[in-house]
Amino acid sequence: MLWWQMALHYFLPIVCVSVLLHIIFLYYFWDPYERYLYQRLHLDQDAFNLDIIHNIEKTWNTLKTQSQLIEQESQKLQNIINYMSEGVMISDHEGVIIQCNPAMEALLNFPPRVIGKHYWEVIIHQELCSKIKSSIETLQNANGEIVFISPTEKNVKYELIVLRGHTEPQILIKLSDWTQIRKLERVRADFVANVSHELRSPLTAILGFVETLQEEKSLSQEKTDKFLSIIYNNVIRLSDIVEDLLILSKVETGDQAKYTVFNPSELINEVVELYRQKIQEKDHTIQFTLLDPKRDILSDRDHLRQIIINLLDNAIKYTPKHGLIILSQRFEDPCYLLTVEDTGIGIPYNDQNRIFERFYRVDKSRTGETSGTGLGLSIVKNIVESHHGSISLKSELGKGSSFTVVLPAEFQAT
Ligand code: ADP
Repeated sequence: MLWWQMALHYFLPIVCVSVLLHIIFLYYFWDPYERYLYQRLHLDQDAFNLDIIHNIEKTWNTLKTQSQLIEQESQKLQNIINYMSEGVMISDHEGVIIQCNPAMEALLNFPPRVIGKHYWEVIIHQELCSKIKSSIETLQNANGEIVFISPTEKNVKYELIVLRGHTEPQILIKLSDWTQIRKLERVRADFVANVSHELRSPLTAILGFVETLQEEKSLSQEKTDKFLSIIYNNVIRLSDIVEDLLILSKVETGDQAKYTVFNPSELINEVVELYRQKIQEKDHTIQFTLLDPKRDILSDRDHLRQIIINLLDNAIKYTPKHGLIILSQRFEDPCYLLTVEDTGIGIPYNDQNRIFERFYRVDKSRTGETSGTGLGLSIVKNIVESHHGSISLKSELGKGSSFTVVLPAEFQAT
């Protein structure tokens, strides 16, 4: 046997057996702790990686929720600003507009896209611009009221508030439209002045004639009667004014309408009967054109009664003797139309828009009528408007006038 054959024959099995024994030894007799540590190392590594991923995911979700909340809050704020009736605008310390709501754009007629422009480019009011400038410079809040002349006259209250808490301060400009309030205040003041004026004339007359009667003991019976008659007429006038004022105040303060179902044709006849004597005194002819006379409406009976009284009273008053007065009604679903027409003195074109104003009377000298208070048509207009209706007038000087009232009414078929 050759030497290499001997080596193969004896040593190879020995080498194989020893390798096998080594593996068995490593597996079964390796320190279990070492083996545990070795295995944990891999497991911990995985767990560690998983933890990091999990934490990142958690932080990401929290950030996402928070950013959604911030988004929602800022959307809410934006909505509040957008739907505010007051104009709101924010300018940075250099005067650049960074926020502006639609109310502001509408109030000051801004051109489109004002964000990014300077406030002085869009606010065409020198006083307001200088107030904003001074607020930015002095960091002082300010407020006041200004009047815009163009494009329409507007009373505007402004408030300038310095917003701190940013790297550079900003200015919040808040504007509110006071035009309507100021107008109402003027109307109220005019009204008080008018009422005082209207009451003063009859009161002065009454006072003067009462003093004369007291002082002049030797007055003839004829003169005494004449003075008493003047006093009586002025007392009646005072009472008419006060009564009309009460009706007007009731209508204007929104005295709740009392809706009932009634027949308007019957109401017209009822009012005409009230005025029968006055109509006969002036020898007027009354004509009726009452379409659908049996048809009822659902409305406020007292209000419609007042409308008919005032229009008929005027027609009788402002129509010279032997005139013709026509009362008509018709239905144009869903409305009820009432027309009072006369062949009277008519109303000059220039006065036609103004006769619905309180205390407005067309030149009194043309009729010699002194009994009017100038409140009748104003009462009619107020009642009609409180029912969301309308009143129109057609009149020709010397030929006559025709007033048509349109009232919404719910109909009951009969
Ligand atoms: P007044 O109590 O003076 O009649 P109104 O408010 O009823 O007050 O009417 C206002 C003014 O309108 C009257 O002063 C009168 O000059 C004019 N006017 C109203 N109705 C008529 C009419 N039918 N014809 C002519 N003028 C009228």
